[in-house]
Amino acid sequence: MTAKGVCWIGGEVVPLDQARVSVTDHGLLYGDGVFEGIRFYGGQAFMLPAHLERLADSARAIALALPRSLHELARIVETVINAFESPEGYLRVVVTRGSGPLGINPASCARPELIVMASQLQMVDERSRAQGIRAIIAATRRLPPDGLDPRIKSLNYLNHILARIEANRSGAEEALMLNQQGYVAEGSADNVFIVRRGELLTPPTSDGALAGITRGVVLDLARDAGIPVREATLAPYDIYTADECFLTGTGAELIPVREVDGRALPQCPGPMFEQITDLFRGAIDQQRLEGRAGAGTAVR
Ligand code: PMP
Repeated sequence: MTAKGVCWIGGEVVPLDQARVSVTDHGLLYGDGVFEGIRFYGGQAFMLPAHLERLADSARAIALALPRSLHELARIVETVINAFESPEGYLRVVVTRGSGPLGINPASCARPELIVMASQLQMVDERSRAQGIRAIIAATRRLPPDGLDPRIKSLNYLNHILARIEANRSGAEEALMLNQQGYVAEGSADNVFIVRRGELLTPPTSDGALAGITRGVVLDLARDAGIPVREATLAPYDIYTADECFLTGTGAELIPVREVDGRALPQCPGPMFEQITDLFRGAIDQQRLEGRAGAGTAVR
């Protein structure tokens, strides 16, 4: 089953199901590349500068030269959004090492490949979104930073996929991943927050999480609203005994969690989740209006 959508590749926009890459692309052969997932609302990419900067950082970290400037990328993103059938959707910006001989050596790949897709992405169905999802804590640990730094948003997601397979096998919708020390790092494709005695807590990225853009927005919104919030190292115990738990991500947006490893969270969706969701919706609306007025999308 192919997703519906459009794709910019090789300088032109084509229907998503007709877009093609080479079988010798090292992105396909080795997961050698980086990517971003970006949502757009009302025809405006949400948090575009932050996403493009993270893409640039991921690319630098793997010594991959982006084939376009961030300004050019922003223009391509705009083109793809305009070519898409709906003003709301999900973008995937992918930069692979490009095509090369079969050995892993990235130096043998002459030209990185840039791909920008627009499609729809629904991480969970509406019922789960309303009632909360079931999660497990996966046995698969998050890769340590001295192996593959979790801040690099690379095309190699097998670590997360192994955790997700565990979730699937136990009938849960998401897997939380621990770091090598046994503390909570993040979900398989999202960051995790808990509420404990009125305080909003999320693991620091140094505990093995991607520096999620949604996570950052939620932290800023909570601080601005005067909600007690801080980064804290969390053990499975803290999740099991939390008042609320929810996930954040571009794909996920905000998803409440109702159960972790068979322990029910007492409040789902809880009052903090509802408040943060309102603030988040407000931030999306505000950026959309600013974007229409031509501000807020400046990239360096
Ligand atoms: N962690 C991982 C492993 C992810 O793949 C994602 C989704 N990009 C996130 C966290 C959430 O990050 P963001 O809010 O930037 O989408």
